[in-house]
Amino acid sequence: MLTAKDTKSAAESSVLGDMGLHNHEQVVFCNDNETGLKAIIAIHNTVLGPALGGTRMWVYKSEAEALNDVLRLSRGMTYKAAVAGLNLGGGKAVIIGDARKDKNEALMRRFGKFVDSLGGKYITAEDVGMTSKDMEYIRFETRHVSGIPKAMGGSGDPSPVTAYGVYMAMKAAAKERWGSDSLNGKKVAVQGVGNVGSNLVASLVKEGATVFVTDIFEDRLAEIKKNHPSVQIVNGDAIYELDVDIYAPCALGATVNGDTLGRLKCSVICGAANNQLADEKAHGEEVMKKGILYAPDYVVNAGGLINVNSEVVGYGRDYAMSQAEDIFNTTLRIFAISKAEKIPTYLAANRLAEERIAAIARIRQPR
Ligand code: NAD
Repeated sequence: MLTAKDTKSAAESSVLGDMGLHNHEQVVFCNDNETGLKAIIAIHNTVLGPALGGTRMWVYKSEAEALNDVLRLSRGMTYKAAVAGLNLGGGKAVIIGDARKDKNEALMRRFGKFVDSLGGKYITAEDVGMTSKDMEYIRFETRHVSGIPKAMGGSGDPSPVTAYGVYMAMKAAAKERWGSDSLNGKKVAVQGVGNVGSNLVASLVKEGATVFVTDIFEDRLAEIKKNHPSVQIVNGDAIYELDVDIYAPCALGATVNGDTLGRLKCSVICGAANNQLADEKAHGEEVMKKGILYAPDYVVNAGGLINVNSEVVGYGRDYAMSQAEDIFNTTLRIFAISKAEKIPTYLAANRLAEERIAAIARIRQPR
């Protein structure tokens, strides 16, 4: 039975308070002394379907920091899935620990058992600090994992699907800004030529765009130059000051910030990186004031989620590519909402997601 003291501490608990802030449905704390596993699974919203989102393994400074991260990331997944038109909710998991030192088969399989205990309400996948080998271990203990290697019947590397979605969003932005979806002759600056960036560059070069690239790794730059001799390499920060039509952040988050906004000369921002706006509200509004058309990151880069979803529902890569193609239409819808309601595009995307969730919640109500 709860004592008065227990009741008081439960009422003051910041976990439930934090969950209430954005209406998270469920948070599961996982502990196992044997393997050393300490993890948190957050389920934000399951109105549209099971909560899908990757597991991140990270050395968090505190449990509060880990909780904050998993709550923020799981909410982001709800919006991404909703706007992409998928029947998925938003969830995410974090494992507290050093991915280079603390990971082993037993720990991953123990985590898989916790995922399994949720009976499919949460489906996990790969995120920072995890590999496809880890997904394999998790798969030994639960069916509720996606993004497993192609050799195991999974959907494999999502990057080509993500890059195709980014390319489609960029074409939509071109149509909105210049009246034609052609990128022929457009000057595009791609920051980061990793898995997604390099696939995007290939599509841009093929369409006749003038492409500038930067990366922190020389070998990546050498490879892209070898495959596409027409690309022009620029050094680090110089990417922000180029006189280009489109800036495509495909490396890190928060590159659209108080500093770079004063330097960017582009008319469009459209890239694969997550959380491009350092401060969503402040910089989302500033981008609009400057007359730059911002294609919201989580709309643009939904191809990765689309790819793992195709694995969950048992469809193949062709279906994923056709859904990624539809990012073109979704992006145009968001621009239309932004114009009609005179709101920044990031907010228009959030509205579209919230409206879809509310509409589906209504039709699911018992009559
Ligand atoms: P990646 O690690 O393969 O590529 C990122 C590239 O950016 C690397 O080549 C890296 O050297 C470079 N880079 C890092 N810091 C840089 C800097 N300061 N300046 C220039 N280049 C820098 O990652 P990826 O899979 O290509 O993903 C790119 C971005 O897209 C990430 O932010 C990721 O979270 C996001 N994203 C990826 C997918 C996917 O399917 N891979 C899906 C959704 C979102």
